[in-house]
Amino acid sequence: MLDLDDTIAAIATAAGAAGLAVVRMSGPHALAVADAVFVGASPLARAAGDTLHHGWALAPAAPRGARARLDEVVAAVFRAPRSYTRQDVVELSCHGGAVSAGRVLAALLAAGARQARPGEFTLRAFLNGRLDLVQAEAVADLIRAETEAAHDLALAQLRGGLSRRLAALVEAVSDALAEVEARVDFAEDVGGVEVPPRVVAAVAAAEAALADLLAGADYARAVREGVTVVLAGRPNVGKSSLFNALLGARRAIVTATPGTTRDLVSEPLEIAGVRVTLTDSAGLRRGGGEAESEGVRRAREALAAAAVVIWVVDASVPLAPEDRRIAGRLAGRRVLAALNKSDLPAVAAPGEAAALLAAPPEAVVAVSATRGDGVEELRAALGALLSGGRGLAGAVANRRHAGALARARAALARAGAAARSGAPGEIVALELREGLGALGEVTGRALGGDVLERIFSRFCVGK
Ligand code: GDP
Repeated sequence: MLDLDDTIAAIATAAGAAGLAVVRMSGPHALAVADAVFVGASPLARAAGDTLHHGWALAPAAPRGARARLDEVVAAVFRAPRSYTRQDVVELSCHGGAVSAGRVLAALLAAGARQARPGEFTLRAFLNGRLDLVQAEAVADLIRAETEAAHDLALAQLRGGLSRRLAALVEAVSDALAEVEARVDFAEDVGGVEVPPRVVAAVAAAEAALADLLAGADYARAVREGVTVVLAGRPNVGKSSLFNALLGARRAIVTATPGTTRDLVSEPLEIAGVRVTLTDSAGLRRGGGEAESEGVRRAREALAAAAVVIWVVDASVPLAPEDRRIAGRLAGRRVLAALNKSDLPAVAAPGEAAALLAAPPEAVVAVSATRGDGVEELRAALGALLSGGRGLAGAVANRRHAGALARARAALARAGAAARSGAPGEIVALELREGLGALGEVTGRALGGDVLERIFSRFCVGK
């Protein structure tokens, strides 16, 4: 896949009934291969870059008779280096649907192109220096984005926001390292080396910049990947009703008989730019029929995977032992307490339910699922919890990036501590080099081909 000499081809659009489908090709022979299939007013080999050409795609030559027409197409020609991959690129716009693009692709493969692997076009753009790895990964995120916030985040990354901040950091740390190394070399003759305050300050500043980059990472990751939020609580407290109220639609079955939400019900909704999969559970109920125990098992699994649990309590009746039991299961979780049925006279004091939890909940909100009171407040509390009160500007969304940046930050912290405590310059240099290595992993400079292939294999074919 790291080989750039063959010409790759793939359908770049999603399958299905659509107006258009695009077959994309990149490589040194893209124009020649296209000319073996495409017939227009003049050969594409003579076409200038950034031009469009109307014509027909023809089937490979048959032993006898004329070549069959496959589709009426428009060919877009991009010449190296002014193309997505910096190679010659031809894109054939065919008719959409199940067959057209497949037949055109087959003809191109018969004419000498190779089927592209997932992400291979973007990998070529990366290998040819048109994008760094952070930007290349943003392309995959852009395609996968399910909310506008996720899209904006990927777009900022593609435009190079994170890349520029990283480049500045790499430069600052490299300068510091050069200065320390120069002194270490010199000290071999003179003996002893002290890291000057100027360098200590530069390392501290770089560490602070990394901390700032990482501060919004949880929120950005939630925006990029989405989260699961589970409604937990004993039967009949109003989970299904609240589920519907949060969604603004009637989806879950509401009944007055306990234990009838037999299965998990999940629906997506968007809160603070995060794709939230809201899950109503069967209640963490013991016993019951067979269907219910299956529901209970699934409810437990959903609970374990949830980023946030909305614990629903019926505030119109005294707290039950089952409320306490469920509260006990929420230890260590981020919990929003929803005191439901606020339209009825309250029986329990507001603090009483929260006191059943091992740790204070993130927020306590009084709601009436049936009347809709407090539902907006609950949404807002969830949004505040997911965002941590931060914006998304410049945030790091990708786990791989966040992991490497955290390692870089730790290395810089150790370098700073070593320098301040008067440790030998070699130690400081070692930590700085480690920090640079971790930063290089993010931009892709310090990654091997196997890692690159793994990263790009998560792309879709044709991108
Ligand atoms: P679940 O078992 O926890 O999912 O509870 P449901 O949503 O099925 O509700 C159980 C019963 O409580 C139903 O009769 C609902 O109409 C009622 N209920 C739910 N929320 C409220 C509320 O805010 N106020 C009142 N008065 N009744 C509610």
